[in-house]
Amino acid sequence: MALQLGRLPTVPEYYKEYINRSVNLIDEPKQCCPFHKENTPSFSYMREKGVWSCFGACHCIGADVIEMHRRHFKLSTRDEAETSLRKICRCTKKPGTRLEQQRVIVNEGEVEYRQARALAHMLANTPERWVELDYLESKTPNETWEFENLVNKWKGGV
Ligand SMILES: [Zn+2]
Repeated sequence: MALQLGRLPTVPEYYKEYINRSVNLIDEPKQCCPFHKENTPSFSYMREKGVWSCFGACHCIGADVIEMHRRHFKLSTRDEAETSLRKICRCTKKPGTRLEQQRVIVNEGEVEYRQARALAHMLANTPERWVELDYLESKTPNETWEFENLVNKWKGGV
C-alpha cells in the first residue's frame, strides 16, 4: 500500500508505509518502538484518540502523523515535518482565508492540548493521581497548561 496523494496519511497508514509494512496498528496497536532499540513492545497507538506513545526509553508522545514523521526523519521542527510530509503526499497547504488561518491556530492548540492530556493520563498510575486528574477534567474549560502543571508536579519538576 502506497500513501494516497492529496491528503495527509493517518498514523496507521504512515506506520505501514515507512516503519513496518507487515503491521496494521489498528489491529495490533502495541509494537516495538520505531524510535529506539528494544525487544519488548513499549510503543502503542491509541486508536480512539489518534495518539501514539512510547513508554520505553523515548518516553515520548505524539498526537498526530506530523509528529511521527518529525521523529522518524529526525527533523527539528514541526513546521519542517509538516512541509516535508505535505511534499511527499503532494498535499499542499492552501494559503487560506483569515478564518481558515485562525482555524489552523486553533488546531495547533488542540494538538498541544491532546498531547498534554494524553501525557497526564499516561502518568496517572496511582489512585491519588487518578483523583487529581478526574478533578482537573471535571473543570471547564480545560487548558493545556493545567495538564502541564500537573505533569510537572508528578515528575517533581518546577
Ligand atoms: Zn521508544
